[in-house]
Order: sequence, then structure tokens, then C-alpha cells
Amino acid sequence: MKVKINRGTNQIGGCITEIESEKGTKIIIDIGANLPDSDGKVKPEIELEGLTKGEANYKAVFITHYHGDHIGLYNKILPEIPIYVGEISKEIYNMVQTRLSKANLVEKKDLEKIASFKTFTIKDRIVIDDIKVTPIAVDHSAFDSYMFLIEADGKKILHTGDFRTHGQRGKAVLKAIRKYVGKVDCLICEGTTLTRENIDVLTEFELQKRAEEIFKENKYNFVLCSSTNIDRIAAIHKATLENKKMFICDDYQCDILEYITKISRSNLYKFNDADNIKDTKVYRYAPNMLEKMKKYGFVMLVRANPNFEQFLKMFNDHAFIYSQWLGYLKGKNEDYKRIQAFVPKHYIYLHTSGHATPEAIKEVIEITNPEYVIPIHTEDKEKIKELTNKAVILEDGEEFIIK
Ligand SMILES: [Zn+2]
Ligand SMILES: [Zn+2]
Repeated sequence: MKVKINRGTNQIGGCITEIESEKGTKIIIDIGANLPDSDGKVKPEIELEGLTKGEANYKAVFITHYHGDHIGLYNKILPEIPIYVGEISKEIYNMVQTRLSKANLVEKKDLEKIASFKTFTIKDRIVIDDIKVTPIAVDHSAFDSYMFLIEADGKKILHTGDFRTHGQRGKAVLKAIRKYVGKVDCLICEGTTLTRENIDVLTEFELQKRAEEIFKENKYNFVLCSSTNIDRIAAIHKATLENKKMFICDDYQCDILEYITKISRSNLYKFNDADNIKDTKVYRYAPNMLEKMKKYGFVMLVRANPNFEQFLKMFNDHAFIYSQWLGYLKGKNEDYKRIQAFVPKHYIYLHTSGHATPEAIKEVIEITNPEYVIPIHTEDKEKIKELTNKAVILEDGEEFIIK
């Protein structure tokens, strides 16, 4: 088998990994858009012969999860090449893109392309000619995220996508790798946190406990976090219920949570439990709720826009929790500036990373015992050598043959 990281050996996000069997079957893992740099500039996107232009010569594209730095270039893929994505991911991504299309930020033909995605669930094993792909569910700040075990020519590759082990379902990740993957020949591993020194990472549960304290001290609370970071929203929701306050979202956010509640069998994600509606209800905001909000206190999920700005003014004496990446508060692109204008000076930072700590990466290396470890999704790939003596340091576009 041959591995080529078309992009992602020297940057976080924008990952495009290529895997080719001896017979010449080629597949792609992730088709991520570039993230803006600290000045807010986005580098020009790449074109790949046979994938985004010319005659199609890839058999399939597999998406690990719905973050833009992994799925963002889906609309550039040639129409003959099928795109595979988790069943729930497809639905959530469609909800997000449909909202953006209403603001004319996404075109109708792109929504049609999303509708054409093929889907898989945890039980599936997808066969593309002589390549087998098995999705392994992981814990990440996107719901329904996967690693992929890729098998061909009697060899195994594990592509981790983005993952972590300190979230609500973190322990299950290592268990699943032990059970369904075991030893591999090659590990293609995310290395987002390799640059960060001695980071003290909060677990999602510790974060929930801190949120509980904040909600206890403050009657009115606003939380800014990603509308698709379902594990974070679950933590905030539970912290709200502990304090017997109203948990309020707008229609768009409520629709996402209702969908998750409907499809998830886990008690972690019961945002509107019909058996116990009084305790777990998510309030869909309506103007006639204002008196109740004043009386009982609340936690409201917000996004940076004028609709939510009015509530911040209305309930002036509030706690504002900033629960996402701090980089948005420094960058200079238009989206970041909108967030900066929205977030009040007195915000409380309460966040934890969606990415594997160096210790977690080390554990995955130990379990899979690979001959080669290729770091991607990192700004300091050389640092992987501190975790393994099997590191293979590639440049973008360089081919590596797994013997
Ligand atoms: Zn990513
Ligand atoms: Zn991600």
C-alpha cells in the first residue's frame, strides 16, 4: 500500500490523505478546507488531478467528521467519486449548511451534493475493490466522528482523524481500538497538541462541574459554544439541570438537539426526555418566555449575532461563558471579528480541547504497535519522535510505501 498526505503534514486542518493499493485502487480520507491563519487569511485551495479536476481516478472519499477542516472541500470533488460520511454526521452537516444557505452562504447545488453523500454506521465495513474500510467511532468535539481502519494487500493502516480520550466517551476510544483494530502496519495520527507544552487538560466532566458552580452563582447565564459540539452542550445541559434553571436555545439549535435525542440511545444525549419532561426539557425560545426567564433564571446557548445580542442587553447582570477555541478572539478574519464584537469583556473562559493529548497519542501507539507512525494535522510533526521511534516524517505530496 502507498500513503500520500496531499496536505496536512505541516498544518492543523485542511487534511487530505491518499491511500493506494498495489493494484492501483485509490481512496481519499478527508477533504478538508484550510483554516485561516492568525491574520485571518486563508491560503488558496489546492486542486488535485483526478479528484477535483480532470478525469476521476479515485474510487471514493471517506470523511472522518463534519468539521470544515475535514469536509470543507466536498463541493470540489468530481461528481463520479462517491463521498462516504457517518449517517448522523450527514444529517447534522446538512442542518448547518441549510442554515447557511438561508443567508446565501451556501449554494443550492452544494445542498444537493450533501444529499448525495453515501453513509455508513458503526457496524459497516465498506469494500472499495481491493480496499476494505472499517469505521471506528471516536470521541471528538464533533458528534459521530470516526477513525478508519484501512486494509489492503495484507496490510493495515489506522487513520485517526481528530480524536481525544478526555471527553464523555473517551474511555471507549481506546477500548474500541483494542477490540476492533489491534496491531497495524501504519498509524496516521493527528498531532494537534504536539506543539503545546505541558497542557493541563480538563475532562468534559470536570468542565461540567465548573459550569455547575458558575450557574449556581449567577441567575442569568449565556454560553457561546459550537452548535455542533454536542458533548459540550450535553455537559452544559446537565450543569443547568443540576441548578434547576431553564435551558434555552433558538429553533436551529433545538432542531439539532431534538434530532440527537431521537437517534441516540445513550442517556448522555437526552435533551428532551419524554418520561421526565419537567427535568430535562430544552426550551425553544419564544417571546412569551421572558417573564419565566426573569423569575427562574436560565442558561441560554448563543451565537454571535444580533438576535442574541438583544438578550445580553436585556439581562445585563449575567455570566457569559466562552466555551470554544480562544484563537477566535485574536484572529482578524470577518467571522472572528464578529465573535470578538459579540463577546463581552467580562467573559468566563470554560473550554477543553477536542484533540488527543500527547499521552493519549502514546497510548494509541502502544495499542496499535505500528511499524510506521505518520503525524498529520500538526504544526510540529518532529515532536512525534518524543512519543515513538517509529516516526515517518513526510512532506505534503510525498509518497510512502508500506512494505
Ligand atoms: Zn481537524
Ligand atoms: Zn475536528
